[in-house]
Amino acid sequence: MAAGAEAMDGAAPMLPVRCRVASAQAEGADVATLTLEPVAGALSGGAPGQFNMLYAFGIGEAAISLSGHDEAGRPMHTIRAVGATTRALTAMEAGAELGLRGPFGTGWPVADQAGRHLLAVAGGLGLAPLRPAILAAAAQPGAVSVVHGARSPDTLLYAGELSAWAAEGTPVYLTVDHAAPGWTGRVGTVIGCLPPALAGHDPAAVSAFLCGPEVMMRATAQALSDAGVPPDRIWLSMERNMKCGIGLCGHCQYGPDFICRDGPVLRYDRIAARLTLREI
Ligand SMILES: Cc1cc2nc3c(=O)[nH]c(=O)nc-3n(C[C@H](O)[C@H](O)[C@H](O)COP(=O)(O)OP(=O)(O)OC[C@H]3O[C@@H](n4cnc5c(N)ncnc54)[C@H](O)[C@@H]3O)c2cc1C
Repeated sequence: MAAGAEAMDGAAPMLPVRCRVASAQAEGADVATLTLEPVAGALSGGAPGQFNMLYAFGIGEAAISLSGHDEAGRPMHTIRAVGATTRALTAMEAGAELGLRGPFGTGWPVADQAGRHLLAVAGGLGLAPLRPAILAAAAQPGAVSVVHGARSPDTLLYAGELSAWAAEGTPVYLTVDHAAPGWTGRVGTVIGCLPPALAGHDPAAVSAFLCGPEVMMRATAQALSDAGVPPDRIWLSMERNMKCGIGLCGHCQYGPDFICRDGPVLRYDRIAARLTLREI
């Protein structure tokens, strides 16, 4: 197996770099965050919004977004077990080995939002790809608000971190589909959080990053646009079944775009018409 730096500089994008799980953190019943380090060589950083292809040896590869980097610069990925590959990845403990190709794809345009208010809207696990963008934007006080919707209070992602962000002054709006005993917060979709999140901001000066189920992103982008947020200031992270990750195989084709190469982060005004089509 080639050393990390060799494979990660684009010379061999189909060649996984052998990595080790440095730490594995359960985030709920079927979700875990893995912090990874190369067994040899170095990994390239990767920008917020980009993804890696993680390979559970002998089982399969899955596209998994970067959910951040730890203090040592090691990449973190938050994974939900939905099938064989993601079940194997979420079951890994510290010391387990896996392959990593990437980072691939487009990132959130965080640096372009200077002087604007950023609204990060996450449905479920969609908070994972948004996390590094939120952390980057929050370096400037008052620059970002967070909206997070989950199925139930116990499936809110990064609950401790959400509280910490709120305590540090980042407005955080939470909502759940189904309440549970003790829950006194909002119940309903993230759309209900948009009016309070936009209050006090000129919508023309707001940018929005959306990540979650497609139906949630479509409705949120429409609602934000109706409220006056410019469609060319709204970005969505799209998901499609992915194989090569480098724009060759066509598995993730989305109209004229390949999600792996031209996405996953795409601007709303470019894809608004496509979002209304079924089964594209
Ligand atoms: C750009 C990109 C970024 C992604 N980032 C993440 C991430 O950060 N964390 C993460 O957990 N997943 C992420 N995914 C989804 C992840 O790639 C898939 O869940 C994974 O490929 C499933 O592989 P599998 O072999 O475990 O299951 P499969 O056997 O491929 O699928 C099992 C079943 O789950 C369904 N399924 C597939 N994906 C999902 C899903 N996302 N949610 C619910 N059901 C699904 C399938 O339709 C199938 O019925 C991302 C996908 C893309 C394209």
